[in-house]
Amino acid sequence: MKTERLICVSNRLPTGDAPSGGLVVALADVLAETGGTWVGWSGASAGTASAALAPVEGGPFRRLAFDLTDAEVAGYYAGYANAVLWPILHARADLMDIVHEDLAVYKAVNRRLAGMLIDVIAPDDIVWVHDFHLLPLAWELRALGAANRIGLFLHTPFPAPQDMAALPNAGEVAGWLSQHDLVGLQTEADVRKFRASLSALAEARAGEDGIVELGRRATRVAAFPISIDTREFAELAVAEHRSLPPGIVKPDRALVIGVDRLDYTKGLPQRFRAFAAFLERHEDWHRHVSLLQISPPTREGVAAYDAIRDETEALAGRINGQFADITWAPIRYIHRHVARERLAGLYRAARVALVTPLMDGMNLVAKEYVAAQDPADPGVLVLSQFAGAAEQMQDALQVNPHDIEQVAAAIHSALVMPPRERRRRQERLMEGLLAQDVHWWSAAFLTALRGPRPSQPSA
Ligand code: UDP
Repeated sequence: MKTERLICVSNRLPTGDAPSGGLVVALADVLAETGGTWVGWSGASAGTASAALAPVEGGPFRRLAFDLTDAEVAGYYAGYANAVLWPILHARADLMDIVHEDLAVYKAVNRRLAGMLIDVIAPDDIVWVHDFHLLPLAWELRALGAANRIGLFLHTPFPAPQDMAALPNAGEVAGWLSQHDLVGLQTEADVRKFRASLSALAEARAGEDGIVELGRRATRVAAFPISIDTREFAELAVAEHRSLPPGIVKPDRALVIGVDRLDYTKGLPQRFRAFAAFLERHEDWHRHVSLLQISPPTREGVAAYDAIRDETEALAGRINGQFADITWAPIRYIHRHVARERLAGLYRAARVALVTPLMDGMNLVAKEYVAAQDPADPGVLVLSQFAGAAEQMQDALQVNPHDIEQVAAAIHSALVMPPRERRRRQERLMEGLLAQDVHWWSAAFLTALRGPRPSQPSA
């Protein structure tokens, strides 16, 4: 059977000669085997926008890049994508910063990209679009006559009807979505929200077979929970744990770890408050536990991110001030990127991971933490019920991140959990991660995209 060429399109083009990061690793093989191409923004911005895609040297598959102007970065990326869509996708309509001109720029960037893409797409190619930066791309490609199979994978949650309603151009977004043969979402809950949100908009009809009809277009929608390269990460953790600098793990001090971009969706203030509540109730743990919170900066310059940084840092300072003594500070807060390899070793050293987002598409840190554990003496994952990962990871200690008392109690339960129960939970979690890793994910999405196309409603 002939395998069609795969064209992947994402906001950022993968960098570096060797693929790194689960998504790129998973797609690298398919791209290399089918002679496919990855298209994305170079990360560069200048006075003039590129009129054609430019090849990027090196790497195991073909890459084509485009540049944006400074005004486009502001309107398309920082503006409509990160200050309107991102909050709406994470149930934070209150944080939207609606600037109508930004929407115009967002659409213009997608239109220009479609115009450059159409020149490199052959009729048999299949196109896989990634994420919320490129929602109108399929619409624009169709307008230029592309009849290819086009799939979209949304890495974020999908908004519920009341959130979708707060989006000024919700109807238009629904129209963009309808132009895909397949829309892949992270969880079954997202699929339900997609069906409900689009049905709440005029002319949408959600059938029982995963097909949503929007006007004159039918689109298939299904859940494909993204994952990590579980085996690779487990091996990395074993090697990296051996080379951790001395002093990171102290025999009489349990390490609790949190790793999240400094984003308001990650629930860092709530987490810090819960850790403080735990310390308040359990004086016997003072000096015997410390929380290492790694939170690299992200999307600086978007107003809501400056606010969450101030709040998080003030809280860490206040809690340390309240509980620390001359030999111990309860929270170590790092506002820098830490290499993935180093994280793997730290996860394995940590007795507990706190993954407590208020809303998260999947959360790969939860999966990495489990993959990194020593099966004979595993740590415990405390996981928000609002992370996409919660649907698959039923054996984590699941919590409501808004309930500070409950999270505080879960931190204590995790620290004192008997080895037998830790091993039982770890075994089941790991079984799931091995069965549904990132290779499973990409194969499942591509099989669905290559399968029968949804039959279109008659005009
Ligand atoms: N990560 C990293 N260094 C850091 C912080 C995070 O390499 O300092 C990685 C982490 O290992 C994970 C990814 O960034 O693979 C974060 O993915 P996740 O799904 O948890 O959250 P997102 O940032 O996509 O919202």
